[in-house]
Amino acid sequence: MPQVPAFATVDPAQGMTEASPGHVQNLVAGSWLDADHARDDIIDPMNGQRFLHVPDTRVHAPFIEGLRSCPKSGLHNPLKNPDRYLALGAICARAATLLRQDDIADYFTRLIQRVMPKSWPQCAAEVTVTRVFLENFSGDSVRFLSRGFSNPGDYQGQETRGYRWPFGPVVLIAPFNFPIEIPALQVMGALFMGNRPLVKVDSKVSVVFEQFLRLLIHAGLPATDVDLIHCPGSEMGKLLDVAKDDIRMVQFTGSSSVAEQVSTIVNGAVRLEDAGFDWKVIGPDFQADWLDYVAWQSDQDAYSASGQKCSAQSIIFVHENWEKALLPKLAELAARRKLDDLTLGPVLTWTNEKMLAHIDALLAISDAELLFGGKTLEGHSIPACYGALEATAVKVPLGAFGTAQFELITTELFGPFQIVVTYTDSELPMVLDILERISHHLTAGVVSNDALFLKKVLGATVNGTTYCGMRGRTTGAPQNHWFGPCGDPRAAGIGTPEAIIATWSGHREIVSDQGPLPDGWSTPPPT
Ligand code: NAD
Repeated sequence: MPQVPAFATVDPAQGMTEASPGHVQNLVAGSWLDADHARDDIIDPMNGQRFLHVPDTRVHAPFIEGLRSCPKSGLHNPLKNPDRYLALGAICARAATLLRQDDIADYFTRLIQRVMPKSWPQCAAEVTVTRVFLENFSGDSVRFLSRGFSNPGDYQGQETRGYRWPFGPVVLIAPFNFPIEIPALQVMGALFMGNRPLVKVDSKVSVVFEQFLRLLIHAGLPATDVDLIHCPGSEMGKLLDVAKDDIRMVQFTGSSSVAEQVSTIVNGAVRLEDAGFDWKVIGPDFQADWLDYVAWQSDQDAYSASGQKCSAQSIIFVHENWEKALLPKLAELAARRKLDDLTLGPVLTWTNEKMLAHIDALLAISDAELLFGGKTLEGHSIPACYGALEATAVKVPLGAFGTAQFELITTELFGPFQIVVTYTDSELPMVLDILERISHHLTAGVVSNDALFLKKVLGATVNGTTYCGMRGRTTGAPQNHWFGPCGDPRAAGIGTPEAIIATWSGHREIVSDQGPLPDGWSTPPPT
């Protein structure tokens, strides 16, 4: 049997059962602490048993103290405690080495799978992305994030320098669907730039980040660098409201409605990674030898992690040249998905009733048709508070977007579901008009090798992470490219040096004016 790593306190292989629930704690001022109460609604998504003891934190004071303990100038900046840049690089190197061990990588993969049931490769990919990210920021890379620039001045003794400056006390809120990758990458980015984050992860999955934080501390991170709170979202909203004067910035990843609430509370001092109604356009250049690949990628984009990726393909526009060949392939691939290997699994934020009602409403649109799926999964013990749906596609006519149904059609169903639309050459302007009207701008895919077609679609759209070419996809939030929405000045990014710098620091200019008195100085007349 696999051993639990030395830093870990929860065992996803033998523990996390009703008889022996995993025990999750807050981290406050460097100490691991329980709250007065534990949540009673955190249940095993595969069988409904209570399997985790997660704090239901209602007392905010120690966390507000934590925010106040960090000055606006941060824990470090280019002129203060620069040794911390190097120390964080060394912590990344040690943490990455730990994650490179098979037993530790498997530990986190299994832990993720227990709380957010998706296939083993999907869970393992999160751990790999996190490990490679840590490798990227080992050694001097953290220091280089705070690289500045200088310009010569107008006269002797004047020079100006631009610095990347921390915000200081910050809050980071993360969703359920990537239990390690999102909070790990964002927390490290916050720390690299000198901030002290208060972290809140969706309590359904927060055990994963809690255990990762224990790994970081084991790897040398001072336990006082981060506070971790487990509480319901509404309670976090109250904390933000009470502490808004002490919070310099909130980095939020999750739904657009909560993103707007948070933004209002802190007067826009936010960096947002919000919802995705992500689209893919398959161009006119049908190529038979690409058919299987394009179909496979579309199946992955729409349905892996049961469609619960912010980058999931919510709608696919298929050129008529592909329609006859591609649509049956999509149905074939969707039919291979099953609960046994978690290529389909529980849907954690939509119930069956809600998903079926959404599908019914779409099917009520004139000429809409169910292409495949549409039924709930049978023969399982997934609790009724979660959904379990076949991989489903509903075909909607292009004309329906010109009606009052636009909002319904472009609503993100965060589950294994997509809309399919077909179009002809002459209808491309209508497709572009729809893309213009879609309110979310996270990911997109333009599948074509036709350079002019690509330029037309790419030039008319704004999605923050857009893949193009025959291998174009919508999903993928690795550490090797910027991931995040575009078109909103509050948009955050994740993954790369540029994303970290833009999300977690501001610009400061320090102008040195140390020169001698100007030659022949006398007080000039007022101007
Ligand atoms: P959600 O907005 O309900 O929850 C996200 C986080 O916010 C959770 O930790 C939750 O507890 C917390 N929260 C809820 N109410 C809050 C409040 N009033 N104040 C403060 N915090 C609060 O999101 P969800 O439905 O669980 O997650 C799925 C959504 O997230 C989808 O829309 C998906 O597209 C989006 N998402 C986006 C990205 C991205 O990178 N853009 C990544 C993952 C998920």
